[in-house]
Amino acid sequence: MSTNRDRAHRQTARATVLRAIATRERRSHLSAPRVPTVGIDIGGTKVMAGVVDADGTVLERVRTETPEKSKSPKVVEDTITELVLDLSDRHDVHAVGIGAAGWVDADRSRVLFAPHLAWRNEPLRDALAARLVVPIMVDNDANTAAWGEWRFGAGRGADHLVMITLGTGIGGAILEGGRVKRGTYGVAGEFGHMQVVPAGHRCPCGNRGCWEQYSSGNALVREARELAVADSPVAHHLLDRVGGQTRDITGPLITELARAGDPMCVELLEDIGRWLGIGIANLAAALDPARFVIGGGVSEADDLLIGPAREAFRRHLTGRGYRPEAEIVRARLGTDAGMVGAADLARLVARRFRRANRRRAERAHRTGFELRLPPLGREARP
Ligand SMILES: [Zn+2]
Repeated sequence: MSTNRDRAHRQTARATVLRAIATRERRSHLSAPRVPTVGIDIGGTKVMAGVVDADGTVLERVRTETPEKSKSPKVVEDTITELVLDLSDRHDVHAVGIGAAGWVDADRSRVLFAPHLAWRNEPLRDALAARLVVPIMVDNDANTAAWGEWRFGAGRGADHLVMITLGTGIGGAILEGGRVKRGTYGVAGEFGHMQVVPAGHRCPCGNRGCWEQYSSGNALVREARELAVADSPVAHHLLDRVGGQTRDITGPLITELARAGDPMCVELLEDIGRWLGIGIANLAAALDPARFVIGGGVSEADDLLIGPAREAFRRHLTGRGYRPEAEIVRARLGTDAGMVGAADLARLVARRFRRANRRRAERAHRTGFELRLPPLGREARP
């Protein structure tokens, strides 16, 4: 029979193991090459690429439109290749990390599915490695954002954290012991599609009542438009701002008006924040992290969103009053998080690649062969 003391021992042992793993991860970063790498964030509308140094500073960034969904995977690869070659004109590029809005398989070589792109079981890592001749790292964009925040932003010092990005939907990622938890098949962290309202709003995923239908940029705009279309007197200020065109109502506009004190816009953000807090309480029940980091466009609303989220979290947390509460903080790297995190994860891949090359070179030296790798930027252009 297990006693309280046994349990306490087991918990202490587990904490010690997790701390050791986190320390090893941190040390592995110290031994990773301190060279600039390229991070790329492929979102629904924009592709952003940046050269990032070992301290997470963005040295230069370039961006372009995301190719339309109807375009072939090759067009997306062309876009990525062009951005990297452009940056490599002015920087030595040692590795490229990609954070993609989509499901990436467990060994991080294929994009299984991307809602905004034509990728279906796409072998992205190998396709790009063949064209760019540098180590390539591919991961889900929420994972790279969480990694960026843990290494350089609001997640520093919290080795067990959950990242939630509120954009058009909800992106999520789990870090434990300084490692991204990707699940068995690579697709963990899809919190946005946990059902919070039975028979609730329809979600593009095919189900009803998903969390992201209540706490996201899309939810915020949908609610505002509904009030505007109903010609509610509370929406008149907002309607004036868009000249009566409800289609022109956007998340940033709602946030701007809320900041200026418009009561309806404040209320709408409170509703989103309340749903955010309820979802976070559920996640705390399942995962028990030390910190929740809230990123994505909607987090620009800051305390107007996070204040109500903290309140709802406290009210819904199971075991409240008898357990330490996780912190809920706003992300610090803003829209750079995914790009910076991807570049940093690529640095780890570059280290493995260098070691393997060194071993190969030693072997070649012993056998009298010479190893030559083409430098980046010499890709044969069509
Ligand atoms: Zn859904």
